[in-house]
Amino acid sequence: MICPLCEKSAVGASDPNWIADGELARVFLGDNQGCAGWCVLVLKRHVLHLDDLAIEEQAALFAEVARAARAIRAVFPTSGAGGGRPRINYECLGNQVGHIHWHVIPRHADDPDPRNAVWGWPAEKLKGAMDGPARAELIARLRKALDAT
Ligand SMILES: [Zn+2]
Repeated sequence: MICPLCEKSAVGASDPNWIADGELARVFLGDNQGCAGWCVLVLKRHVLHLDDLAIEEQAALFAEVARAARAIRAVFPTSGAGGGRPRINYECLGNQVGHIHWHVIPRHADDPDPRNAVWGWPAEKLKGAMDGPARAELIARLRKALDAT
């Protein structure tokens, strides 16, 4: 079976959700936008487990993850609880697709369940209601913020 994240990585910048490339990973706007700005970083090559990477690559990959988080927080400077930048959840799960990828999920002030991970939300709530033009505009803002970090 072909790995869906290898396919996504191969499409790269032609994917409408593509935001930017780091050295190790490609950054996409997540299909789920129940938390606006949710990004997914996909390792460019197929590796199943984080600990299969050399420690230097683990560190470099996480630096790319943190850079994406910084960009998300820059795009949403006042959306967090208390009016500041949002908290970010970092998740490298691999339960459904065994290809290293990181979910970088902003938790905004309107979060219905801020003390728990998002995965218990109904699918419709995870997906959110962001339409195509709003997604494209957010991708442009995130790309600009990534370029500035
Ligand atoms: Zn893969």
